[in-house]
Amino acid sequence: MKRAKLYYTNKGYSYIKVTNQDCFDWGGLAICDNCNENMKEDIYLIFILGRALCEKCFKEWCERSKRYEEDLKLQKTNHIRWYKNYGFDVIED
Ligand SMILES: [Zn+2]
Repeated sequence: MKRAKLYYTNKGYSYIKVTNQDCFDWGGLAICDNCNENMKEDIYLIFILGRALCEKCFKEWCERSKRYEEDLKLQKTNHIRWYKNYGFDVIED
């Protein structure tokens, strides 16, 4: 299990940063789930979306996403296990 630092967007949504090798390791193709571009570094894995995004799409999502308390509640109870399913032991500060 790899260790990953848990980050939060300014709306409160968690994410971790992964590499394309990490994507291959979990059986992914390292293709952005929003724009279908190939990704190398700076891949953002986001629980609440259930998606891996490139840096550009991640930034766009950060701009337009809204903070929903129900989503944050769901995140709180499920995200650690979800990241674990992708092979990451997340570290919360
Ligand atoms: Zn993208």
